[in-house]
Amino acid sequence: AKRSGRNTFMVYDEHMERDAAEQRGLERDLLEALANRQFHLVYQPVCDTGSGEVMSFEALIRWHHPVRGAVPPSHFIPVAEQAGMILPIGAWVLETACVEAASWPRPVRVAVNMSPPQFLQLDLCDQVRRALDRAGLPPGRLDIEVTEGLMLGDEEVVLNNMVGLRAMGVRISLDDFGTGHSSLSYLRRFPFDRIKIDRSFVQNLGGDVEARAIVHSVLSLGRSLKLDIVAEGVETDLQLRELRILRCRLVQGYLLGRPMPLAAAQSLLQATSEP
Ligand code: C2E
Ligand code: CA
Ligand code: CA
Ligand code: CA
Repeated sequence: AKRSGRNTFMVYDEHMERDAAEQRGLERDLLEALANRQFHLVYQPVCDTGSGEVMSFEALIRWHHPVRGAVPPSHFIPVAEQAGMILPIGAWVLETACVEAASWPRPVRVAVNMSPPQFLQLDLCDQVRRALDRAGLPPGRLDIEVTEGLMLGDEEVVLNNMVGLRAMGVRISLDDFGTGHSSLSYLRRFPFDRIKIDRSFVQNLGGDVEARAIVHSVLSLGRSLKLDIVAEGVETDLQLRELRILRCRLVQGYLLGRPMPLAAAQSLLQATSEP
């Protein structure tokens, strides 16, 4: 038993070392990724369940490394956050999304994801204003998506930034709603404009009654707090039908459209703007 205990420990230890080395390698590559233009944005449509029309796009970062290939954001964003590289990467995402959205054939909104360290910057409002000005994008066309992770930071900074951004006309969404521990208290303390229901709830729609009850109550919560609700991760007709029955107006997911390159997003807007 002792020996197997030690073997187990050894295996564990090797994993730890490989992870640390892998982490350092990723950090090094991330440092070069911005300068070497290895990032680009893709856009996923958010649609109206009634008309089927595209109402906005969410910008999602993609990293294509020459050797690693495509590295998913779920893999490198946490590394970038830990290593302090999320600020320049986040600034690049904000600026690029504003410039690209300014060229769309229809003035729909663009949503940008912000990591907690990015949203907690004291000069965030100035940065956003500069990005909008440089791109020539009206503030009303920008949404910022944040998660509950944000609330581990200084509450006063969060509140100041939210108030400042909303005064400019920028909208703020609470992403991955329902996955954290205190979603409800955030809604009371912070002035959000919209909630994005996490796809874990949407995915079970049509299957279990609990999922329907949860989505239903988030929708009525949204109505009474005058918040827009977006259902994320809609993959099947059954889920979409359920959401229509529940009168959820805004949906996003593979069924409506996968994240797509800029040119495809532009053609989609072009196609749907014709009579
Ligand atoms: P998120 O903000 O919740 O973004 C939605 C994720 O769900 C995206 O994954 C999207 O491709 C995926 N998705 C959309 N529809 C469906 C569906 O129907 N089914 C399934 N299974 N998945 C769907 P992606 O692009 O891999 O991004 C993962 C996460 O990485 C994002 O989750 C967000 O937290 C983070 N992220 C992505 N881009 C950025 C960025 O520019 N900045 C920051 N800070 N975080 C980002
Ligand atoms: Ca998001
Ligand atoms: Ca989400
Ligand atoms: Ca997420």
